[in-house]
Amino acid sequence: MTTPAILTLNAGSSSLKFAMYHAQTEALLARGQVDRIGPDATLSMKDADGAALPVAPGPLCNHDDAVAQVLASLRGAFPDARAIAIGHRIVHGGIFHDRPVMLDAAMLDELRALSPFAPLHQPHNLDGVRAAMEAYPGVPQIACFDTAFHRNQPFVNDTFALPRRFYDRGVRRFGFHGLSYEYVSGELARIAPTLAAGRVVIAHLGNGASMCAVQHGRSVASTMGFSALDGLPMGTRCGQLDPGAVLYLMQQEGLPPDEIADLLYTQSGLLGLSGISNDMRELEASDHPHAREAIDYYVFRLQRELGGMAAAMGGVDALVFCGGIGENSRLIRARVCERTEWMGIELDHSRNQDNAPVISTAFSRTTIMVIPTDEELVIARAARKMIGA
Ligand code: ADP
Repeated sequence: MTTPAILTLNAGSSSLKFAMYHAQTEALLARGQVDRIGPDATLSMKDADGAALPVAPGPLCNHDDAVAQVLASLRGAFPDARAIAIGHRIVHGGIFHDRPVMLDAAMLDELRALSPFAPLHQPHNLDGVRAAMEAYPGVPQIACFDTAFHRNQPFVNDTFALPRRFYDRGVRRFGFHGLSYEYVSGELARIAPTLAAGRVVIAHLGNGASMCAVQHGRSVASTMGFSALDGLPMGTRCGQLDPGAVLYLMQQEGLPPDEIADLLYTQSGLLGLSGISNDMRELEASDHPHAREAIDYYVFRLQRELGGMAAAMGGVDALVFCGGIGENSRLIRARVCERTEWMGIELDHSRNQDNAPVISTAFSRTTIMVIPTDEELVIARAARKMIGA
């Protein structure tokens, strides 16, 4: 008997994350990733309990190779599974897409036309789609957008104060990390429906990082803007930056646009400030003063943006941490919640150390929570819904 399965693919510039779920029960069957696509790439896969699964040997030189090896590995480990839908993470859905869509040639063209809005992500996402369509012709492919969750934000958070024609051309605030926010909001609604119906700030702190103000379950403000560069400092991305600094780099230092893009996307953030690492674990372990300063800056910006998110909603009932740093770093959570009593945010240090699901004190007006995010499950559910499985 065959097992109907849903695959999810999340193709980044040099990585391919994937998961496979039982289509009817939503049970996770396997998840894994290809890292450093190219001559030194590695492919790893685990079952639902985290036990390593064998993977197919073979080249991983480009996205086509990576998709082929992932599919071969899944076929090898689950010979009875039959993919009935494939869900893809697509970073940019443009102005109109506020929900997942079925992918076909016309939709692929439409999404390709959005590549200038996310040149470092969108083309790779679409490479993954193309490779999967070739490997699985006839299997429905569904696009899930990181921007969709934010698409109905109020105009004041959607726009920049540029001449109106740029807004009309799509120079807007798109948000991003929307699949993570959708998952965490959904979990909050399941665990604590009263809180979810109120004013919630979600801090997604991974290699990329952003915050979102979610009121009555809807995104009303977010720290990421037109691109995935804005807002909080990240592993290698700068976060909020005065556009005048970019003009200076271009006009006075003569840096060409590609070099500026590389600087802002891959050499800045925690890595740029510390000169040591983009990895929070390494910075926490380091006693170098620049590591300290990078963490100080990270915490300072988080606190400032937290105040901004609360202001956008007239207060905050729940603060939820997620992402690799949000889910694991006791230090960062504790430091962010220092000097936030004025917002009604009071951390219980012992619960924080225990990594408990609720880490606020009984007296805190704002409930502080840790909810591990699961973007893959959001994609799988959307794909399942789209095909009516
Ligand atoms: P991505 O955005 O690529 O999915 P993750 O959500 O896995 O990334 O987050 C990666 C970040 O989480 C890295 O900076 C890593 O150092 C940090 N991280 C993971 N575990 C811990 C930990 N125990 N303490 C501090 N930081 C951690």
